[in-house]
Amino acid sequence: MDMNKKIPITVAYGDGIGPEIMEATLRILEAAQAPLTYEVIEIGEKVYLEGNTAGIKPEAWDSLRRTRVFLKAPITTPQGGGFKSLNVTTRKMLGLYANVRPCVSYAPYVDTKHPKMDVVIIRENEEDLYAGIEHQQTDEVVQCLKLISRPGCEKIIRYAFEYARSCNRKKVTCFTKDNIMKMTDGLFHKVFDEIGSEYPEIEKEHWIVDIGAAKLADTPEAFDVVVMPNLYGDILSDVAAQIAGSVGLAGSSNIGDSCAMFEAIHGSAPRRAGQNVANPSGLLLGAVQMLVYLNLTEIAEKVHNAWLYTIESGYHTYDIYKEGVSRQKVGTREFADKVIEHLGKRPEKLAAVTYQKSLERFSIQHKPTVPAKKETFGVDVFLHWNKGTAEALGKSVEKFRTANLSLNMITNRGVKVYPDGLPETFCTDHWRCRFLGNQPIQYAEILELLKKVNEAGFDIIKTENLCYFDGKPAFSMGQGQ
Ligand code: NAD
Repeated sequence: MDMNKKIPITVAYGDGIGPEIMEATLRILEAAQAPLTYEVIEIGEKVYLEGNTAGIKPEAWDSLRRTRVFLKAPITTPQGGGFKSLNVTTRKMLGLYANVRPCVSYAPYVDTKHPKMDVVIIRENEEDLYAGIEHQQTDEVVQCLKLISRPGCEKIIRYAFEYARSCNRKKVTCFTKDNIMKMTDGLFHKVFDEIGSEYPEIEKEHWIVDIGAAKLADTPEAFDVVVMPNLYGDILSDVAAQIAGSVGLAGSSNIGDSCAMFEAIHGSAPRRAGQNVANPSGLLLGAVQMLVYLNLTEIAEKVHNAWLYTIESGYHTYDIYKEGVSRQKVGTREFADKVIEHLGKRPEKLAAVTYQKSLERFSIQHKPTVPAKKETFGVDVFLHWNKGTAEALGKSVEKFRTANLSLNMITNRGVKVYPDGLPETFCTDHWRCRFLGNQPIQYAEILELLKKVNEAGFDIIKTENLCYFDGKPAFSMGQGQ
């Protein structure tokens, strides 16, 4: 590329320790002669408190859409309801589907129980329970919709394999809970198996997330690249960063088809703000991921290796400082000064990094969807009802039927309570009445059924159609059914 041509990026200084660590990071990038220009936008607490519930001004989107590269310091989300998470909004608005979090230990220079850890967590970033579709349905029950799409799975899983291939990593592990969520997490696992088969040189494994998480916390050196749906990835990437040494050390990239955001994984640590004590390493390593994304791989290597040299030389901020191990406790600015002083040096004890071109930036395609033959065989009608037992509800709902639909079962929080429920099952005021037939029906028949239920005075919360896709049932059974 033409090194005289500078690349514009959007920068936000954020809240709390944000401005200090951003200043330190940009000083290092400038000293390394990264050919960048900055458009500064305002986000975070001040914008929230001015009454903007998204925490970002509308004009800031213009800058993001222009530069398509965002280096972001942490922000403070004000306490209390009504404020939307800016991170979730940015990821979704810009289609940043892949969150990449390398979690590396730097033993013996940074204290950790896991000296050989080098794990990259690749977290799906747009779907799952983070769709933010929540409702209170009854006096006693609220729900959050977990949405998993095939294109979403294909993109994140292919990204994970492409990432592994381009970094010469040997194994990709998938965590899901598909023994329970057979359809949503089941789809993620299935797509992992499908796409994994296209990467024969890479070892593949799947763990149920609970035992997988336990193993990751206990034996992280057994993992390499780990790909997960959104919620598990959110939780486990913090666990992985913390057990590697400190959440203050990990950077993160959020990658989309045409935009990307880079940040530290930690928050704005308001109690440490303004004291020149915060560790800028997380944001700096996020910025290194950005340099790689921008194909400025030589500069990325130079900055990363100078940082490694600084860590092994024992210049440590308070969060990783340890008597007997560290040489000197330094502040944010002094740490940045040391990294700048060490530009051009490579670590002697820790492994030096090398970056290949175009790492983090792949053209990820997902297959176009071929529509299946979809037939409706019934409907789940959800009721808000608190007037008695499952048996009593069953007896009154059973009389609603149409030519093809009759009551198949009632569940309460997913457990079958009618017919033949157990008296021990605790019931809330939230019931699912499943009406099912033996042949495909028109939606009009569901409306006919709902009309009867409604006219009898029942409070219908919602319905879900019961469909077959290409002749196969595409809904879960009731527990106990
Ligand atoms: P936090 O990550 O800000 O702090 C947790 C702990 O880690 C604190 O003890 C802090 O002192 C320490 N710490 C974090 N980063 C450090 C660093 N760079 N150097 C030294 N020590 C560091 O988490 P929190 O206290 O739960 O959240 C504070 C605020 O940050 C909240 O408003 C939260 O919403 C926000 N937050 C923002 C982001 C983001 O913008 N990406 C992410 C997480 C939390």
